[in-house]
Amino acid sequence: MSALILDGKALAKSREQKLHTAVEMLTANGSRKPVLATILVGNDPASATYVQMKVNACGRVGIGSMRVDMPQSTTTEGLLEVIDRLNNDADVCGILLQHPVPEQIDERACFDAIAIEKDVDGVTTQGFGLMSMGEDAFGSATPAGIMTLLEHYDIDLSGKHAVVVGRSPILGKPMAAMLLNANATVTICHSRTKDLATLISQADIVVGAVGQPELIKAAWIKDGAVVVDAGYHPGGIGDIEKIGLEQRVAALTPVPGGVGPMTINALISQTLASAERRG
Ligand code: NAP
Repeated sequence: MSALILDGKALAKSREQKLHTAVEMLTANGSRKPVLATILVGNDPASATYVQMKVNACGRVGIGSMRVDMPQSTTTEGLLEVIDRLNNDADVCGILLQHPVPEQIDERACFDAIAIEKDVDGVTTQGFGLMSMGEDAFGSATPAGIMTLLEHYDIDLSGKHAVVVGRSPILGKPMAAMLLNANATVTICHSRTKDLATLISQADIVVGAVGQPELIKAAWIKDGAVVVDAGYHPGGIGDIEKIGLEQRVAALTPVPGGVGPMTINALISQTLASAERRG
């Protein structure tokens, strides 16, 4: 068996062409240009790179960006003031608060201050609740991008056993809810889970979202599984060890070029959707 490569980079590129056309049509019909506001707090170089990649993607499809860069010493109150201003700025149709923020900030309070109609990164408690209930809501960008990737490659989820490793509010939890909504049988694993290897060996679909390089071992994964790796570490290493997997699993996301581009694509797709709703 040679695994189907779930090529997020190629899919994101082809979707960007369609998004570009859709943005042109929107503005040609007299609507305002969509604008994504990005908020970067602090000096983390990786976060700065992620924000720049998102701004670049907006530029490629014709979505405007409004950058707000705030110092490391920013307080919760200071950040809430900025979010309030952006919520009330009619030009802004989406708000991205780059995670993580410095530790003195109440990140949950700040995420939840984002107006639901501008929550294009899918980080609010309300958005999570609506999505979990199968109601209309923007999904958390990384799992939403993963679902688009799985759908594009016709990966059958119904009745399959999906094991999600990680339960963070922006990734593991919403991923599990989306897979459940797609009729998978879902197991969520975390740092207190006992015998991760046995649980993973039962998975038809494995999602690695742990943030630790190659924590999930190739030997734990059964033949014919679908392997989704959300992790990215220096040297192009993911959260899942890949040795020998390509020869025996059904499908697999490359690192890089799998989940990462689809995360950005979900963000800009949802920004356009917000602009279309605004009119
Ligand atoms: P996070 O907030 O640090 O959450 C990590 C999760 O992994 C937690 O739920 C934690 O469990 C669990 N975990 C840690 N050690 C474990 C272990 N030994 N066994 C089982 N579970 C364990 O990370 P995150 O923000 O969700 O990100 C996860 C990964 O995805 C990272 O590699 C990150 O770089 C990547 N990511 C990629 C994108 C993208 O666009 N490609 C976007 C976001 C994140 P507890 O809850 O018990 O602590």
